[in-house]
Amino acid sequence: MDLPALRVTCWGTRGSIASPGPATARFGGNTPCLEVRSPDNRCLIFDAGTGIRVLGRRLTSELGPVRADLFLTHFHWDHIQGVPFFGPLYDPKTFIRIHGARQGDVDIQTLFAGLMGPIYFPIPYEALAATLEFRHLDGQSWVQDGVEVASMRVRHPAYTYGYRVRVGGAMLAYMPDNELIGAEYPVGGERWRRELREFLRGVDLLFHDAMFTDDEYPSREGWGHSTFTQAARMADEAGVRRLFFFHHAPERTDAELLRILDDLRTDLARQGSALELGVAAEGEELLVQEQKT
Ligand SMILES: [Zn+2]
Ligand SMILES: [Zn+2]
Repeated sequence: MDLPALRVTCWGTRGSIASPGPATARFGGNTPCLEVRSPDNRCLIFDAGTGIRVLGRRLTSELGPVRADLFLTHFHWDHIQGVPFFGPLYDPKTFIRIHGARQGDVDIQTLFAGLMGPIYFPIPYEALAATLEFRHLDGQSWVQDGVEVASMRVRHPAYTYGYRVRVGGAMLAYMPDNELIGAEYPVGGERWRRELREFLRGVDLLFHDAMFTDDEYPSREGWGHSTFTQAARMADEAGVRRLFFFHHAPERTDAELLRILDDLRTDLARQGSALELGVAAEGEELLVQEQKT
């Protein structure tokens, strides 16, 4: 039995706005935040939606001083709203390296600090005690101590990126906001789609945007999101082993998600596809291992 290479925990799976309540209790109401631990316990965090608040408490109690790399896909509210509530930022022993894409001419430190402007939040950015380092995506993979994080621009308003983490042969990818088909973006077309398939080739676990049903999509084209079936088709084409639907629509109930999952599993089985499907659930830990080819 192989040792797990990467441990992944979803702390927020919901798109657009937090949506707590009995109808979303199973898959969760917090907005996007994903924690990835390497085999040597290096901590990578993807997005800082409302889910990062609970992660902060967990990290502090488990690790003491927090050292982590935070990768932001983009700066839409649902992906950054948890920042001021991430407890380790107020601890002088914390070190966080923040990775993200410049938005036009605006650097990510300015964007990050702006979240805590006095109009929006009572505690100023200057009050953060942690040591923060900012790093802009530059088209190259970020590599440190055997962990490689690659980024790829996706089809979504603003400068939005998806990420892929690799440790040895174990890979996972995270693309919470990506409109695979339809609308106009600076990237797209068959060439982009081919690049995306290559980017995802050999990935054990992919978290991908699946905000809409096929019936909902036509009236929401251009909002920056994909359907369940579009995500499944892409993952299947790329040879991904497991696809977990992510960025659940705020009004999508647990019961609906389970029904959609069931239907799509049946369709895939009928087509003879080996792709495994799941629904990202808040608090659930998943293991990512090297893909045997
Ligand atoms: Zn989003
Ligand atoms: Zn977005």
